[in-house]
Amino acid sequence: MKTLPLFIDGHFTQSQADTFIDVTNPADNSVIARVPCATQSEMQAAVDSAQRAFESWRETPVSERARLMLRYQHLLKTHHDEIAEILSLETGKTFEDAKGDVWRGIEVVEHAANIASLMMGETVENVARSIDCYSLTQPLGVCAGITPFNFPAMIPLWMFPLAIACGNTFILKPSEQDPMTPTRLVELFVEAGAPEGVLQVIHGGKEQVDFLLDHQAVKALSFVGSVPVGQYIYRRGTENLKRVQAFAGAKNHMVVMPDANKEQVISNIVGASVGAAGQRCMAISVVVLVGETQAWAEDIQQALGEVTPGLWNDNQAAYGPLISPKAKERVLELIKAGKEEGARCLLDGSAFTVKGYEQGNWVGPTLFADVTTDMRIYNEEIFGPVLCLMNVDSLDEAIEVVNANPYGNGTSIFTASGAAARKYQHKISVGQVGINVPIPVPLPFFSFTGWKGSFYGDQHAYGKQAVRFYTETKTVTARWFEGDIPAGPNMTIHLK
Ligand code: NAD
Repeated sequence: MKTLPLFIDGHFTQSQADTFIDVTNPADNSVIARVPCATQSEMQAAVDSAQRAFESWRETPVSERARLMLRYQHLLKTHHDEIAEILSLETGKTFEDAKGDVWRGIEVVEHAANIASLMMGETVENVARSIDCYSLTQPLGVCAGITPFNFPAMIPLWMFPLAIACGNTFILKPSEQDPMTPTRLVELFVEAGAPEGVLQVIHGGKEQVDFLLDHQAVKALSFVGSVPVGQYIYRRGTENLKRVQAFAGAKNHMVVMPDANKEQVISNIVGASVGAAGQRCMAISVVVLVGETQAWAEDIQQALGEVTPGLWNDNQAAYGPLISPKAKERVLELIKAGKEEGARCLLDGSAFTVKGYEQGNWVGPTLFADVTTDMRIYNEEIFGPVLCLMNVDSLDEAIEVVNANPYGNGTSIFTASGAAARKYQHKISVGQVGINVPIPVPLPFFSFTGWKGSFYGDQHAYGKQAVRFYTETKTVTARWFEGDIPAGPNMTIHLK
């Protein structure tokens, strides 16, 4: 049985923990590894090492920090398929989808290689006589990241490359459900030449997260995960006067206008709703059918009904199993609730299984029509291959529904009308909008900008906002006299 190591002070070490968590293959729930719950002294050693490393890493020239990211990007690309295979094994994602997870992370590392221009400050000459003012962008110190199970490559890569490129050191606490992928990412970071102590990895759950939340040496904390944990982390972290960004759950709506291209809409719905078994924070979980598109429900049913889940290496499989028996139980419970609450169940994947893998966490594509805003399947994040169809009469009504929803991660509109699209992008209270694009995840030169209950904090992930999150701005006001220095004190605050 493989026990995953911690990574402390530049070394992979076996933990002295007495508590371990099993890592399973979601296709059959066999145990493939175990992860230790790091002890207090191991976590303290990680913080001490990160603090020490910060003193020299912050002095390392920005071009050297950028070159580390270039080497890392190259190694990630070289090992792309191998990482994706590990990822598939521990998450159940299809190989193609796992490759996408790795690739979207690599793009952030590419972005981090531009760190010099991202950290440029501002200058104004002659703010007063012989006085110039300029700003410096400086790292914070030790930063930490807590990541979820659903993107074990992309989400750690949202965090540590940018934080470290900015001159910080970083402690990662990956999801205990799929820690093998992040471990491989760290091995490659070492191979790329990361100096000792710049990155640390501790494993575990709540106790280990609480340690990071409470430790005064941790200056900023990035979290991605569920709503209750996100709220808890934001509250406790900010109570401890830290900078916190917490990305949480979602309920993403796609609005379908009568002038949209039906074929395009239906194929986009299929991939965006049940792809990755619906375990994406940007998955479409609600389709709002406007006017006559309500008649498209049967076509959606037919297209989703043709989708078959399967093993990660089965080329025909559209998606894999859910991450755990607990996740499956929650999804089945919500499907049951949907039926009891009176939604019309057009497809029920509760009994789906894969031959020979009956112990796996399988759920087939599930479709509900006539869903209303008072139902649990509408109000709760299902995080499974379950799609809800709602009916409205107009674009205005659709906007009202989406804006009343407590989440605001992503949304999309499908239409042939520029005016409808523009109205939607302008009026909608959601942070990421797709126009004829179902899952509008921005590339890393923008930021990942969820709103409302999907995000707690102000500066978002990657892009310029991440650099602001992981740095402090210092302004310098400098006077250099040429010739005589004016005599006498200046008794006002006025710069002359
Ligand atoms: P989760 O909240 O259960 O776990 C996330 C992390 O928090 C893990 O590292 C876990 O060990 C830790 N954790 C769990 N319980 C904790 C507690 N009580 N106290 C402190 N730490 C705790 O989330 P998950 O199930 O791994 O991930 C799925 C969720 O993540 C979904 O809700 C999804 O929408 C969300 N998500 C959001 C985004 C986004 O960008 N908004 C992206 C991906 C996933």
